[in-house]
Amino acid sequence: MTTTYAVLSEGLEKTYGEVHALRGLDLAVPEGAVCGLLGPNGAGKTTAVRILTTLTTPTGGRALVAGHDVTREPAAVRRAIGVTGQYASVDGDLTGRENLRLFARLAGLRGSAGRARADELLERFALDEAADRVASGWSGGMRRRLDLAAGLITHPRVLFLDEPTTGLDPSARERIWTAVRELADEGTTVLLTTQYLEEADRLADDIVVVDRGRAVANGAPAELKARIGSYAEVTVAEPAALAGAAVVLDQLTGGRPALDEDRLTVGVTVLDTGLTLPRIIRELDTAAVPVTDASLRPPTLDEVFLRLTRTPVTQKENAA
Ligand code: ATP
Repeated sequence: MTTTYAVLSEGLEKTYGEVHALRGLDLAVPEGAVCGLLGPNGAGKTTAVRILTTLTTPTGGRALVAGHDVTREPAAVRRAIGVTGQYASVDGDLTGRENLRLFARLAGLRGSAGRARADELLERFALDEAADRVASGWSGGMRRRLDLAAGLITHPRVLFLDEPTTGLDPSARERIWTAVRELADEGTTVLLTTQYLEEADRLADDIVVVDRGRAVANGAPAELKARIGSYAEVTVAEPAALAGAAVVLDQLTGGRPALDEDRLTVGVTVLDTGLTLPRIIRELDTAAVPVTDASLRPPTLDEVFLRLTRTPVTQKENAA
């Protein structure tokens, strides 16, 4: 059986003067899959999405979306895709219904067909009750759902979601996630860019970790976690012992231990499956590091990300 790819890129490059935003990005997203494009600030995610949605052209490589070349057949690509952004493209002076009817008209859906599609989407995203109020009075979560609905007017085969839940509260985020999962279950291919690892973990069938313009790893969330092995964390008795614990963990794992001075912990990803907790404790003991707790457990996606990109996701971004 051959796999059909909804998004395929080979050696995609983009330079802005001296800046190499993309340095040979390869992507292969099967039809109907949710692919999470994950990476630190400046990794090249937005540039990749801008190329794939025909907003800018690559300086090297090639990309196909829904079977069409983004450079040679941009109009065909645009007909096959929906795009929703992190900044809701909703007009606050119009009601929800008027916004969707406008998007329908812009997409070439005229008269009753456009009105029917707008009504269908308002109902689908539970926006029908508020539909005739101006959108400026809506909550952020409602506006984001309206933005998502607008991206779906034309029944796109491929939907690009750029940081769809940035700034939303947990329940609003949950509603967007449910909607995206439903779309994927119906067969829409979704390319999601996000800095929220939890979001990628929940939604994506496959994750592509992008760093400095290249894909540095890809696989299902569980595969990526398994590749890292485990995570060792040691709690020390006093701040002065942090450095000693870090030296021991560095020697044992070859990783770069992360120190947390508030929690008095030192943690590191462990690739060596033969490393055991008793061995870690023994080595700490030999080095006379006073330890109050130690654990070896599967990594979170945060820890995988950190290991793969070497660029920490800030606490603020994680907590947002
Ligand atoms: P973020 O998560 O911060 O949105 P990103 O992964 O989307 O980051 P890009 O916005 O694609 O990253 O940027 C990749 C690199 O290209 C960065 O170094 C950025 O400064 C640079 N870059 C992007 N757009 C332009 C532009 N129009 N002109 C010059 N440099 C740009």
